[in-house]
Amino acid sequence: MKKENFIELNEADVFSIVNEKLLKHGCDSKNAFEIAKTITAAEIDGCSAHGLFRIPGYISSLKSGKVNGESNPKVVQIAPVVFRIEGDRGFAPLALSVSYNPLIECAKKNGLAAAAIVNIHHFSALWHEVEHIALEGLAGLACTVSKPVVAPAGAKTSFFGTNPMAFSWPRKNENPMVFDQASAAMARGEIMIAALEGSTLPQGVGIDKNGNPSNDPKQILDGSQLTFGGYKGSSVAMMIELLSAGLIGESFSFERGKKDNNDGGPTRGGELIIAINPNLFGDENNWHKHCELFFSKLIELEGIRLPGDRRLKNREHSKINGIKISRTIYEKVKQL
Ligand code: NDP
Repeated sequence: MKKENFIELNEADVFSIVNEKLLKHGCDSKNAFEIAKTITAAEIDGCSAHGLFRIPGYISSLKSGKVNGESNPKVVQIAPVVFRIEGDRGFAPLALSVSYNPLIECAKKNGLAAAAIVNIHHFSALWHEVEHIALEGLAGLACTVSKPVVAPAGAKTSFFGTNPMAFSWPRKNENPMVFDQASAAMARGEIMIAALEGSTLPQGVGIDKNGNPSNDPKQILDGSQLTFGGYKGSSVAMMIELLSAGLIGESFSFERGKKDNNDGGPTRGGELIIAINPNLFGDENNWHKHCELFFSKLIELEGIRLPGDRRLKNREHSKINGIKISRTIYEKVKQL
């Protein structure tokens, strides 16, 4: 893409545009604050598919009435290490923010804890939640499903969501290791951006509506995406359906798709988060040292980088140089 298609903003600018637009279109201040924090963090880390680009979708769902912009999520402890967070039909960020303290404190005390977050609309990346957990010295796992846009291995029609999963590992004197990936070969937001920009995609990302391989983002959006790694990614997508829908009594992707009003925003459903305390698994005095040995051996290998390193480099760069935003997206958001 050409350089002149970008503008540079600082963190406070991005936060205040998002906050202002959300307040204007029906969010209360608590919801607007948490969403604006999440979107700003995505832009800082160079995850533009979950940055300002998503604002029209958030606003469509506020306007259509699907999402409650004044949600008041409630936490209930339903078992010694299991919390259920009723999201009150809101966007995910506020429900996530109220889940962190009980989840983290419980995992620190008991070795692990899980949060079943229900009745929410998740429209962002998942690294936010697991990074937060790892900064507290815990390992974190998060997963959610979305609407059916991915064909399971062998099928020609969509059944799974893009089903992301994120995992974090705490490190001493280093940023946590975090990976966050869709089980689709490519995140849908990236395909939507490619369609907007008129670019083509690699083979293996999706099929057209007749089930034929395609590298045209518009045909893939009309057809189906594919999972990463063929049937192996397909099984991971299935596991995520079972954990973040079947296990917690929330909707599977196919049910989310049926219930959704297709207003361009996220579908309604749940998310599972698990926090694990390595201090309580029998290697309290050595696990940090042992895992650092593992990471040092891993990054010695030629060609290796740790997942999350790209984001962290972008974070450093943004703090110094400002945040690079697509001019097209910025203009679109400003006009809302
Ligand atoms: P990517 O394929 O871009 O990256 C997946 C992970 O792999 C990242 O942690 C990335 O780290 C890491 N990675 C990439 N390249 C390398 C490499 N060469 N070596 C080591 N690690 C590497 O992400 P996806 O397209 O799969 O997912 C995009 C986002 O979309 C995710 O944040 C996901 O949570 C989100 N999503 C949200 C949904 C929702 O319903 N809310 C639905 C689907 C997706 P790094 O970031 O440092 O590059």
